Amino acid sequence: MEQIKNIFCIGRNYANHATELGNEIPSSPILFSKPTHSLVKADGKDILFPGGRGDIHHELEMVIYIGQEVTAGFHVEDVVEKIALGVDFTLRDVQSKLKAKGHPWLKAKGFKNSAVVTDFWDFPGIEICKETDFSLVKNANVVQVGNIENMLFDFKQLIEHCHGYFGLNEGDIIYTGTPEGVGPIQHGDVFRLMWGNDEKGRFPVKIGNE
Ligand code: ZN
Repeated sequence: MEQIKNIFCIGRNYANHATELGNEIPSSPILFSKPTHSLVKADGKDILFPGGRGDIHHELEMVIYIGQEVTAGFHVEDVVEKIALGVDFTLRDVQSKLKAKGHPWLKAKGFKNSAVVTDFWDFPGIEICKETDFSLVKNANVVQVGNIENMLFDFKQLIEHCHGYFGLNEGDIIYTGTPEGVGPIQHGDVFRLMWGNDEKGRFPVKIGNE
């Protein structure tokens, strides 16, 4: 895998996902991050998720790879070198408790194997991305379909925001938010990540503890 430095994630970047969880539509990007130990490739091998901590939800997302330092006046095509599909796994019951207490989401979002990602491929440009739906297939069913056209904040705004708060440089990646259709996973589920009709990655789910 590429040397990944920082993993940034965007919450509630699709209106239909914000409303499916009963959340308000944000007026600026909601940012969080994950530890690098959360990263795992969707390469066909089993992926282990924690048991006994309540529902674990899948969130299918476009992931962008920053290939050079972001500076003022950047162009998206210059700084986004590659893209991938990913799943931002979330311990939903844990997150609900943390949200109710006003605590950080880290325990709900940053656990080991919570950041699944396919191989990266060369960024084809914004227009091609808008012409291509991405989808998540769970067993035989399509459970999520997204298109970056429906993002509340586009790549440019997300990069500007991350850059402004944290800096962005080569090796940083951004999970750009999930479309609607998130839901719980079960031991034995098999997921496939699709870019148009191309399968970019797959993995079976194991739930348990090491
Ligand atoms: Zn997410």
